Amino acid sequence: MSHFDPAEFSRMLARLTPQELRQVEGIVAEARKRAEAVLEIDARAEAGGPASSCPRCGGDERIRWGRTRTGAQRWNCSGCGATWSGRSDTPLARVHRPDLVVALARDMIEAPQPMSCRRGAEVLDTSRHSIWRWRMTIIGALAPEPDGTLAGIVEADEAHQRESRKASREWVRHRRDPATTPPGGWRVWEKKLLAATDHGGHRVFEAITDAGQRAISGALLPVMARDAVLCTDGLATYARIARDERIPHFALNAGRR
Ligand SMILES: [Zn+2]
Repeated sequence: MSHFDPAEFSRMLARLTPQELRQVEGIVAEARKRAEAVLEIDARAEAGGPASSCPRCGGDERIRWGRTRTGAQRWNCSGCGATWSGRSDTPLARVHRPDLVVALARDMIEAPQPMSCRRGAEVLDTSRHSIWRWRMTIIGALAPEPDGTLAGIVEADEAHQRESRKASREWVRHRRDPATTPPGGWRVWEKKLLAATDHGGHRVFEAITDAGQRAISGALLPVMARDAVLCTDGLATYARIARDERIPHFALNAGRR
């Protein structure tokens, strides 16, 4: 770890022009995204984390073994000699920019309206195909364990997933001539998802055909524990499902939609 002297750093910043300072802000923001991704990767391999024991022999005896190219802690098994990091055996293992994928996953989970693939490609400065591929990987990684049900307070909301690869030609045509829409309209390739999460960190994405009561309850009820409480943005459909199924229901931001 290099030595960091805040006083020296601030003296250096004091000599910069406003334009140079803006450049520094961009560099710092980028570095911070990377550092946060590395922290999340390292947390997986900390004692008690899902990647804390040897992926080959399951042993717990290990020593620190340098860092990966992205800066994450690497471990070496004292039993069998295997090396691994918190990123091993995860969908992130083959991704060269885990920081971007973490940013994308945050957007999918936390943003009120997740970015389109095109916007994601612009924001994260990568190809739309990469965004689409990462999204599918993230959705796969977020799928529940076979016996996992959502318990306690369960939050549910619909999300849209634009399948950009299938529609990339339509996109190009639409970009050239905004009056052009694909046959059948955009809905043809806009996949609707029901996103549900509980406070234990379990998340479920279920494909739904529409936002009707039948589709939503068909996706939601099988993944909810019997004694769970439903928390939504107050869409009337959820209120009806909760009433019909006798689930306690809390509506946040009621009336905003
Ligand atoms: Zn081992």
